[in-house]
Amino acid sequence: MTTAFISHPDCQLHEMGAGHPESPQRLQAIERQLDASDLRQRLDIQLATPVEVELLYWTHGREFVREIEALLPSHGLAWADPDTALNPHSLGAAHLAAGAVVQAAKRVLAGQVDNAFCAIRPPGHHAEQERAMGFCLFNNVAVGVEWALREGGAERVAVLDFDVHHGNGTVDIFQDRPEVLVCSSFQYPFYPFRYQDIRRPNIVHTPLPAGTASDEFRLAVEADWLPALRRHRPDIIFVSAGFDAHREDPLAQLRLEDADFRWITDLIVDASKPSAGGRIVSVLEGGYSLQALGRSVEQHLEGLLEA
Ligand SMILES: [Zn+2]
Repeated sequence: MTTAFISHPDCQLHEMGAGHPESPQRLQAIERQLDASDLRQRLDIQLATPVEVELLYWTHGREFVREIEALLPSHGLAWADPDTALNPHSLGAAHLAAGAVVQAAKRVLAGQVDNAFCAIRPPGHHAEQERAMGFCLFNNVAVGVEWALREGGAERVAVLDFDVHHGNGTVDIFQDRPEVLVCSSFQYPFYPFRYQDIRRPNIVHTPLPAGTASDEFRLAVEADWLPALRRHRPDIIFVSAGFDAHREDPLAQLRLEDADFRWITDLIVDASKPSAGGRIVSVLEGGYSLQALGRSVEQHLEGLLEA
């Protein structure tokens, strides 16, 4: 079985100021963990290629993409929202981030690899159709989903989001698209305070109070996600893999352990087998404790490798 690991050093050039938690050090922590373990030898390591800009228009529309392009500063920072800045390298990083997901979807749907993990930034799941927010410029996962549906031969897709923050952007984009199931587990009430109460047959919310630990997390995800996945029968599963529900994370108050990220990976792998043939494209979202992020990504990759 093969797991692709898709990344690019230029994703580390995007930088939002000293002390910003969504920092280049996050990707460096993941790279260090590949070396500290034997993962680098076991993964199919690939360099991300930039997205074709036309593919962004399928998700965000031309006007929005042009607004983001127009914000790009020639020096210093330009702010897209109070939490989200661009430096001169941010647009290049954002094109690589979305491009990695399209590349992963292509390879997985062509059967060249079994599954894939995209270690990219900026993250994407807060980016709505017409709004950059929450450290996100373009919704990387949504861009990959659109490619899979329009070009990749997929008819039904599931997006599973275990980031501690609700995937408001993904819900905004797919709320009226019954072919896309979106399941999101998240601390509630909590940022981003948008869409987390919306009711749609293809949107599954798993709100979790602050302090939630492994057992309650596992029970809630099994109860909410598994029946929805059995009904939906996706051809491929995309994962918004955020690791900020870890107990060591400084931005949130859930209490997951390293092993919970192996557990949820195994659950997703099992769920992908009946209809999706094991096809999984997983994409980095949050995770702000550098130590916990490295260890949790290792758990996630072990689960993907042993699919
Ligand atoms: Zn998050």
